[in-house]
Amino acid sequence: MKEQKTEVLFTKEEIQDRVKQMAGEVSGDYRGTVPVLVCVLKGAVVLLSDFMRRLDIDVEIDFMAVSSYGNSTKSSGIVRILKDLEASIENRHVIIVEDIIDTGLTLSYLKEILLSRNPASLKIAALLDKPERRETDIEADYCGFCIPDKFVVGYGLDFNQMYRHLEDIRVLLEFE
Ligand code: 5GP
Repeated sequence: MKEQKTEVLFTKEEIQDRVKQMAGEVSGDYRGTVPVLVCVLKGAVVLLSDFMRRLDIDVEIDFMAVSSYGNSTKSSGIVRILKDLEASIENRHVIIVEDIIDTGLTLSYLKEILLSRNPASLKIAALLDKPERRETDIEADYCGFCIPDKFVVGYGLDFNQMYRHLEDIRVLLEFE
């Protein structure tokens, strides 16, 4: 595969600091409860892993995999569930853990599905947000960084399944 040019957007240290702050906020807001963190595979696994270890409350975790009918860089808004949650979320406080909100179509669809299962509450924690590209009115309740309309990789985010292992987040300068 051709080596792509990248440019660092957030360093490992910047990401770790921000994840720690987000976890502090969530720990405060959910004190006395045991929320379920719903990790959206695959991109959010790195965030989940760091985020959950920074919490000082008990949590459960569960995973969902969805595929959007689109190509690798554009979402269509129609989402297919590839892997569903293992446990019921009825009457549970649920936090969706997502890597990035772009058009917002994937998350709005996911939110609708999860809300139909009657959780006690449902919030969204996303590391990155590209507000310029939003096509729905969805917003993260806990957001790491707002970023410009660039395609980013690293810290769980891929391009053709590559780059997920990077500890920093980079802009992919040429892709297609
Ligand atoms: P949305 O439905 O909000 O448009 O798309 C969300 C999904 O698109 C994310 O979970 C992610 O998989 C993918 N995505 C959106 N923007 C980027 C990006 O800049 N880089 C990468 N690697 N994936 C992205």
